[in-house]
Amino acid sequence: MKIYDISMKIHFDMAVYKNKEDKRPIIKVVQDFSNSSAYESSITMNMHTGTHIDAPLHMVEDGTTMDEFNLEKVITKCKVLDFTSIEHQITKEDLITKKINKGDFILLKTRNSFQEDFDFNFVYVEESGAQYLKDKEINGVGIDALGIERSQPGHETHKTLFSEGITIMEGLRLKDVVEGEYFMCALPLKITGVEASPARAVLIEDLI
Ligand SMILES: [Zn+2]
Repeated sequence: MKIYDISMKIHFDMAVYKNKEDKRPIIKVVQDFSNSSAYESSITMNMHTGTHIDAPLHMVEDGTTMDEFNLEKVITKCKVLDFTSIEHQITKEDLITKKINKGDFILLKTRNSFQEDFDFNFVYVEESGAQYLKDKEINGVGIDALGIERSQPGHETHKTLFSEGITIMEGLRLKDVVEGEYFMCALPLKITGVEASPARAVLIEDLI
Protein backbone atom coordinates (compact mmCIF):
# COMPACT_ATOMS: atom_id res chain seq x y z
CA MET A 1 0.00 0.00 0.00
CA LYS A 2 1.41 3.39 -1.00
CA ILE A 3 0.04 6.69 0.25
CA TYR A 4 0.40 9.93 -1.68
CA ASP A 5 -0.14 13.08 0.35
CA ILE A 6 -1.75 15.46 -2.18
CA SER A 7 -2.19 18.34 0.29
CA MET A 8 -0.44 21.70 0.40
CA LYS A 9 1.83 22.50 3.32
CA ILE A 10 0.29 25.29 5.40
CA HIS A 11 2.68 28.07 6.36
CA PHE A 12 2.89 31.86 6.15
CA ASP A 13 4.85 31.95 2.88
CA MET A 14 2.75 29.37 1.03
CA ALA A 15 1.05 30.18 -2.28
CA VAL A 16 -2.29 31.92 -1.65
CA TYR A 17 -4.96 33.03 -4.10
CA LYS A 18 -3.81 36.07 -6.09
CA ASN A 19 -1.08 36.55 -3.46
CA LYS A 20 -3.62 38.33 -1.25
CA GLU A 21 -2.13 39.07 2.15
CA ASP A 22 -5.43 38.39 3.95
CA LYS A 23 -5.37 34.81 2.67
CA ARG A 24 -2.07 34.06 4.40
CA PRO A 25 -2.34 31.74 7.40
CA ILE A 26 -1.23 33.38 10.65
CA ILE A 27 0.19 30.77 13.00
CA LYS A 28 1.01 32.00 16.50
CA VAL A 29 2.62 30.35 19.47
CA VAL A 30 0.20 30.88 22.34
CA GLN A 31 2.54 29.43 24.94
CA ASP A 32 5.77 27.48 24.92
CA PHE A 33 8.15 25.85 27.37
CA SER A 34 9.70 29.17 28.31
CA ASN A 35 6.48 30.23 30.04
CA SER A 36 4.44 27.04 30.39
CA SER A 37 4.62 23.29 30.81
CA ALA A 38 2.98 22.73 27.42
CA TYR A 39 3.31 24.10 23.90
CA GLU A 40 0.22 25.52 22.17
CA SER A 41 -0.35 27.45 18.98
CA SER A 42 -3.26 29.01 17.12
CA ILE A 43 -4.06 29.57 13.46
CA THR A 44 -6.09 32.18 11.62
CA MET A 45 -6.70 31.43 7.97
CA ASN A 46 -9.15 31.77 5.13
CA MET A 47 -11.12 28.57 4.48
CA HIS A 48 -9.93 28.63 0.85
CA THR A 49 -6.25 28.72 1.73
CA GLY A 50 -4.39 25.52 0.88
CA THR A 51 -6.06 22.22 0.00
CA HIS A 52 -9.76 22.55 0.71
CA ILE A 53 -13.29 21.48 -0.14
CA ASP A 54 -15.96 23.99 -1.18
CA ALA A 55 -19.57 23.66 -0.03
CA PRO A 56 -22.45 25.03 -2.15
CA LEU A 57 -22.82 28.07 0.16
CA HIS A 58 -19.57 29.37 -1.38
CA MET A 59 -21.45 30.33 -4.54
CA VAL A 60 -25.13 29.68 -3.88
CA GLU A 61 -27.16 31.83 -1.49
CA ASP A 62 -28.71 29.56 1.16
CA GLY A 63 -26.54 26.71 -0.16
CA THR A 64 -25.55 23.88 2.18
CA THR A 65 -22.61 24.21 4.55
CA MET A 66 -19.59 22.13 5.41
CA ASP A 67 -21.05 20.51 8.53
CA GLU A 68 -23.83 19.06 6.37
CA PHE A 69 -21.27 17.55 4.02
CA ASN A 70 -21.55 13.78 3.41
CA LEU A 71 -18.12 12.22 4.00
CA GLU A 72 -18.94 9.34 1.63
CA LYS A 73 -18.28 11.84 -1.12
CA VAL A 74 -14.60 12.16 -0.23
CA ILE A 75 -13.80 8.67 1.05
CA THR A 76 -14.02 7.13 -2.37
CA LYS A 77 -12.39 5.65 -5.41
CA CYS A 78 -11.10 8.34 -7.74
CA LYS A 79 -9.37 8.82 -11.09
CA VAL A 80 -6.38 11.08 -11.66
CA LEU A 81 -6.52 12.46 -15.22
CA ASP A 82 -3.37 13.91 -16.78
CA PHE A 83 -3.85 17.29 -18.46
CA THR A 84 -0.30 18.51 -17.97
CA SER A 85 0.04 19.44 -21.65
CA ILE A 86 -2.74 22.04 -21.41
CA GLU A 87 -1.57 25.64 -21.20
CA HIS A 88 -4.68 27.63 -20.24
CA GLN A 89 -8.03 25.91 -19.63
CA ILE A 90 -9.69 22.51 -19.57
CA THR A 91 -12.64 22.37 -21.95
CA LYS A 92 -15.22 19.77 -22.98
CA GLU A 93 -12.97 18.87 -25.94
CA ASP A 94 -10.18 17.99 -23.53
CA LEU A 95 -12.38 16.02 -21.16
CA ILE A 96 -14.00 13.84 -23.86
CA THR A 97 -10.55 12.38 -24.58
CA LYS A 98 -10.67 10.68 -21.16
CA LYS A 99 -12.91 7.91 -19.87
CA ILE A 100 -15.27 9.60 -17.41
CA ASN A 101 -18.32 7.76 -16.07
CA LYS A 102 -21.35 8.61 -14.01
CA GLY A 103 -20.45 8.67 -10.32
CA ASP A 104 -16.72 9.22 -10.86
CA PHE A 105 -14.62 11.46 -8.67
CA ILE A 106 -11.94 12.90 -10.94
CA LEU A 107 -8.76 14.77 -10.04
CA LEU A 108 -7.30 17.02 -12.72
CA LYS A 109 -3.51 16.97 -12.85
CA THR A 110 -2.16 19.99 -14.71
CA ARG A 111 1.04 22.01 -14.99
CA ASN A 112 -0.16 23.82 -11.83
CA SER A 113 1.19 20.92 -9.77
CA PHE A 114 4.73 21.79 -10.87
CA GLN A 115 4.57 25.41 -9.70
CA GLU A 116 5.03 26.42 -6.09
CA ASP A 117 4.29 30.14 -6.46
CA PHE A 118 0.81 31.46 -7.28
CA ASP A 119 0.37 31.71 -11.05
CA PHE A 120 -2.20 34.29 -12.14
CA ASN A 121 -2.62 32.25 -15.36
CA PHE A 122 -3.26 28.93 -13.64
CA VAL A 123 -5.01 26.16 -15.58
CA TYR A 124 -8.72 25.97 -14.70
CA VAL A 125 -11.96 24.31 -15.81
CA GLU A 126 -13.72 26.40 -18.43
CA GLU A 127 -17.53 26.52 -18.52
CA SER A 128 -18.00 23.93 -21.30
CA GLY A 129 -15.85 21.55 -19.25
CA ALA A 130 -18.01 22.10 -16.17
CA GLN A 131 -21.16 21.53 -18.22
CA TYR A 132 -19.70 18.28 -19.61
CA LEU A 133 -18.89 17.05 -16.10
CA LYS A 134 -22.41 17.95 -14.99
CA ASP A 135 -23.90 16.07 -17.96
CA LYS A 136 -21.72 13.08 -17.08
CA GLU A 137 -23.18 13.16 -13.55
CA ILE A 138 -19.84 12.79 -11.81
CA ASN A 139 -19.71 12.87 -8.00
CA GLY A 140 -16.77 15.18 -7.60
CA VAL A 141 -13.87 17.01 -9.18
CA GLY A 142 -10.59 18.22 -7.75
CA ILE A 143 -7.94 20.43 -9.29
CA ASP A 144 -4.37 21.40 -8.48
CA ALA A 145 -5.15 25.12 -8.50
CA LEU A 146 -6.46 27.33 -5.71
CA GLY A 147 -9.49 27.95 -7.91
CA ILE A 148 -11.39 25.65 -10.27
CA GLU A 149 -12.31 28.76 -12.29
CA ARG A 150 -10.79 32.14 -13.05
CA SER A 151 -11.87 35.24 -14.94
CA GLN A 152 -15.54 34.27 -14.54
CA PRO A 153 -17.43 37.16 -12.93
CA GLY A 154 -20.59 34.99 -12.88
CA HIS A 155 -18.73 32.00 -11.40
CA GLU A 156 -20.26 29.71 -14.03
CA THR A 157 -17.93 26.78 -13.40
CA HIS A 158 -18.60 26.64 -9.65
CA LYS A 159 -22.35 27.19 -10.10
CA THR A 160 -22.73 24.60 -12.87
CA LEU A 161 -20.99 21.96 -10.75
CA PHE A 162 -22.84 22.86 -7.54
CA SER A 163 -26.19 22.76 -9.36
CA GLU A 164 -25.72 19.02 -9.74
CA GLY A 165 -24.33 18.48 -6.22
CA ILE A 166 -20.82 17.84 -7.53
CA THR A 167 -18.13 18.14 -4.86
CA ILE A 168 -15.33 20.62 -5.61
CA MET A 169 -11.80 20.29 -4.20
CA GLU A 170 -9.10 22.87 -4.80
CA GLY A 171 -5.43 23.25 -3.99
CA LEU A 172 -4.33 19.67 -4.72
CA ARG A 173 -0.68 18.71 -5.32
CA LEU A 174 -0.44 15.96 -7.93
CA LYS A 175 3.14 16.24 -9.20
CA ASP A 176 4.13 12.78 -7.93
CA VAL A 177 0.92 11.00 -8.93
CA VAL A 178 0.54 9.39 -12.35
CA GLU A 179 -2.74 9.08 -14.22
CA GLY A 180 -4.77 6.16 -12.92
CA GLU A 181 -7.20 4.94 -10.30
CA TYR A 182 -6.71 5.41 -6.56
CA PHE A 183 -8.62 5.37 -3.33
CA MET A 184 -8.99 8.88 -1.92
CA CYS A 185 -9.54 10.11 1.59
CA ALA A 186 -9.93 13.87 2.00
CA LEU A 187 -11.58 14.92 5.22
CA PRO A 188 -12.83 18.47 5.83
CA LEU A 189 -12.97 19.86 9.35
CA LYS A 190 -16.40 19.71 10.99
CA ILE A 191 -16.96 23.46 11.27
CA THR A 192 -20.57 24.61 11.45
CA GLY A 193 -22.14 27.11 9.10
CA VAL A 194 -19.18 27.65 6.79
CA GLU A 195 -18.83 27.52 2.99
CA ALA A 196 -15.55 25.57 2.81
CA SER A 197 -12.97 23.80 4.92
CA PRO A 198 -9.30 22.87 4.75
CA ALA A 199 -8.77 19.16 4.20
CA ARG A 200 -5.90 16.70 4.42
CA ALA A 201 -6.15 14.78 1.18
CA VAL A 202 -4.40 11.51 0.43
CA LEU A 203 -4.49 8.97 -2.37
CA ILE A 204 -3.93 5.32 -1.62
CA GLU A 205 -2.54 2.92 -4.21
CA ASP A 206 -3.09 -0.84 -3.96
CA LEU A 207 -5.42 -0.61 -0.96
CA ILE A 208 -5.49 -4.01 0.71
ZN1 LIG B 1 -12.55 27.38 -2.66
